Amino acid sequence: MPPPTAPSVVEPSNGSAPRPQEAPDAAAAKPMPLVLVEDSSEYASLVHEMLRDAFGLGFELAHYELVRDAEADLRETRVDCVLLDLSLPDAEGLEGLRAIRAADADVPIVVLSGFDDERVALEALQEGAQDYLVKQHANGHLLGRAVRYAIERKRSERALAHQAMHDALTDLPNRTLFLDRLELALARTERRPASVAVLFLDLDRFKVVNDSLGHGVGDELLRETARRLGDVVRPSDTVARFGGDEFMVLCEDLAVETEAIAIARRIESALAEPFAIDGHEIFVGASIGIAFAREPHEDAKTLIRNADQTMYRAKLHSTGIELFDEEMHTSAVRRLQTENELHRALERDELRLVYQPLIELSTGEIVAVEALLRWQHPENGLLSPREFVPVAEETGLIVPIGDWVLDQACRQLARWREAIPEARTLIVSVNVSPRQLAQHGFVDTVAATLAATGIEPSRLCLEVTESAVGREAELGAVLDALRELSVALSIDDFGTGYSSLTALDQYPFDILKIDRSFVHRLAEGAERRAIFAASLGVAEALGLTAVAEGIEDADQLRELRELGCRVGQGYQLARPEPADAVGTLIRRGRVAV
Ligand code: C2E
Ligand code: MG
Ligand code: MG
Repeated sequence: MPPPTAPSVVEPSNGSAPRPQEAPDAAAAKPMPLVLVEDSSEYASLVHEMLRDAFGLGFELAHYELVRDAEADLRETRVDCVLLDLSLPDAEGLEGLRAIRAADADVPIVVLSGFDDERVALEALQEGAQDYLVKQHANGHLLGRAVRYAIERKRSERALAHQAMHDALTDLPNRTLFLDRLELALARTERRPASVAVLFLDLDRFKVVNDSLGHGVGDELLRETARRLGDVVRPSDTVARFGGDEFMVLCEDLAVETEAIAIARRIESALAEPFAIDGHEIFVGASIGIAFAREPHEDAKTLIRNADQTMYRAKLHSTGIELFDEEMHTSAVRRLQTENELHRALERDELRLVYQPLIELSTGEIVAVEALLRWQHPENGLLSPREFVPVAEETGLIVPIGDWVLDQACRQLARWREAIPEARTLIVSVNVSPRQLAQHGFVDTVAATLAATGIEPSRLCLEVTESAVGREAELGAVLDALRELSVALSIDDFGTGYSSLTALDQYPFDILKIDRSFVHRLAEGAERRAIFAASLGVAEALGLTAVAEGIEDADQLRELRELGCRVGQGYQLARPEPADAVGTLIRRGRVAV
C-alpha cells in the first residue's frame, strides 16, 4: 500500500491539516476551495491548469492521491466541489464516490474518468455525482462549467430539500422533519423511553389577533413566537411548526420528566410577555400539552396525538400546561368508539328530534319550536347532543347529520301545518354547526329542502352559536346568502363566546338568544340584572329580537318580564318533547305562563 500522499499542488501541506473554517459570506470573496482526488500527478497538474483557465486565481486546489486522505479533509473543512478520478489506488470505480459522499453528503462532485462509458456515467450520477467528464475531452472551458454547474445544482438541490422539510414562514422544521427526528429519537431510547417528551403548543389568542390586526401582524407574531421558542429550549431540542398557530417541541435525553415541565414553563413565560408588532402591544399566551414516550418502540404518531389531545385539555380548562395521562387515553378510546358508532347512527336510524317551544312571555303563545337532536343509542340509551355533537363536528359527520336534521324538521313542520291550523304561522328553528356553514353548497341544500317540503323560507330559522361567529372567515357570505333566501337567523348561546358588537353587527341576524347562564344568575342580585338588561340593550341596539334561554322557574320568568324580555324558552314553559306531544301544545296555541 502506498504511503499517505500529501497534496502536491497547493496547500494544505499535509493531508490531515484542516483548512480554517470560513463563514459562507466571507468565502464568497475568497478563492473557492476545491479538492482533487487523482493518483496521476501529471493529470493533476493538467487539471490545475484547466482550472486556472476557467477561474484565474479564484480557486484553491487541494490535491490528494488517496480517497482516504481526501475524506479526512472533507470531514474537517467546507469544500465547494470535489473533482474525483474513478480509478484510484485505494478505491476502484464508484467506491471512491461513495466514500466521498459518506464523508460529506453535501459536497458537489464532478467525476473525471478515463473511461468514456455511458453506463458508468449514469451510475455515477445515480449515486450522487453532479457531473461526469471524460478526461480526454476535458478542457478549461468544460471543466470550469462542470464545476460551476455542479455547485449550482447542489445548491438548488439543498434549497429544495430544505423547503420540503421546513415551514416557509418561520423556517422551523415542519411536520415531516419533526416526525422523522421523533422517530429517530424513539429508536434511540430502548432503555429509558421517558427521556423523550413531545410538547404540543397552541397560541391562545392567535385567531383574534389575525382577524383583527390582519395577516401581516399574524405572520410576524408567528415568526416572533418561533424566535422566542428557539431562545428558551435547549440546543438539542427540536422546535417545529405544524401549521397555523401550532408548534411542537421534541425534547430528548431528559434526565428526569420534570425537565420537560421546566421547559414548558419557560415557553409559557416567554410567550406571556407582550409582543410589540407594528405599533401594537399584543398579548397571546399558549396552551401546552406534554406527552412522554412510555415504552420502547412507542409510535411517534401516537405520541404526537397524545400531546395534541393534552394541549386541547389545557386549552379547555385554561390551565396552560397539562400532562398526558392514561385516563385521558381511555376517554380518547371511548371517543373513538362514539365516533365509529356515530357513523352508523344515521344508517341505522338511531337519531331522533325533539322540539321545544319558544314562548311569548306575556301571552304564553308559541311563536316557534326549536328542533333538538337526540341519539337513541342501542346500549347507552338516549344521548344528549352535548355527548356526541362535538365528536360529529370534529369528524365532519355533522354535515350529513345536520342535513338530516334540517330535512326532518322541515317535514315535521309541513305535517303540523297540514294537520293544525294554528301551525301556519309557526317557525321551526334548527341548530347549524359552523362546519355545515363552511360546507360548499350549504345554501343550496337549505333552498332545496325548503322547496321539497313546501316550507316558506321565512318559517325557518337557523341558529348559530355565538362562538362560531367570527370563527369562519366565509361566514358572512353564507349568512348573507341565507338572508337573501329570507331564512331567519339566530345567534345562539349569546354571552358564551367573545364576539365583538362590530362582528355581530356585520352579520344579518334577526334573533339573539341570551344564554341560560345569564338567566340562572339573575337570582344573584342587582348586578346580574343589570348585566341581563345590558344584553337586552345589545339586542335592541342591533335591531334583534331577544330570547331568554333556559327559564327554569317562576321567579326567573317574572324577572325577565320585568326586564322587558318578550320571548323565552325553558323547562318552566315547555320541555323538549317528541313531535306528537308538541303537536298537542301547538293545537292549543299557548302554554300557561
Ligand atoms: P341550544 O341550541 O342552546 O339548545 C338549548 C338547550 O338547552 C337544549 O339542550 C335544551 O334541552 C336545553 N334547555 C332548554 N330549556 C332548558 C332549561 O330550562 N334548563 C336547562 N338547563 N336546559 C334547558 P340539548 O337539547 O341538550 O342541546 C344542547 C345543544 O346541542 C344545543 O344547545 C345545541 O347547541 C346543540 N344541538 C342540539 N341539536 C342540534 C342539532 O341538530 N345540530 C347541531 N349542530 N347542534 C345541536
Ligand atoms: Mg339552539
Ligand atoms: Mg342556546
